[in-house]
Amino acid sequence: MERLWSPWGLAYVTGAASATGCVFCEATGPSPDAARDVLVLVRGRLSYVILNLYPYNSGHLMVAPNRHFASLAGATADELAEMMRFTRDAEVALTEAYQPHGINVGINLGRPAGAGIIDHIHIHLVPRWTGDTNFMSVVGSTRVLPEDLGDSARRLRPIFERLLTGHDD
Ligand SMILES: [Zn+2]
Repeated sequence: MERLWSPWGLAYVTGAASATGCVFCEATGPSPDAARDVLVLVRGRLSYVILNLYPYNSGHLMVAPNRHFASLAGATADELAEMMRFTRDAEVALTEAYQPHGINVGINLGRPAGAGIIDHIHIHLVPRWTGDTNFMSVVGSTRVLPEDLGDSARRLRPIFERLLTGHDD
């Protein structure tokens, strides 16, 4: 059952954490890590949207707060609002860029729930197509590889930037 809800649950979510700390923290702050920065699609005041380094499908992205905390209980009302706004933008952007048949939206809280990075909360959005395969079939090499991440960023970033202008409405 877990696999139905967590297609990303068995994969690394953003690659191995560096020795210095948290990959989500490294993608934000005044001097974001350059390798992470190329994956970032849009930055808000309190949170940001970043491509998954090891996507389950093309367009697999995540919404994460700038601040380091592990669960929804640690979020402020403003953080919750902006993250949900970005989740909405991500739905719109993925639909526009990829025309998926469906989208998984989910949060894995804790290791047994499938989280790869457990200390810094993040919301996954994974575009899905009828007939696409689950993670296990990757072993059988039956899956079409996701597109290049640079191509994903070039497709999605302008849409997020356009949608961001509506955030102050
Ligand atoms: Zn962090």
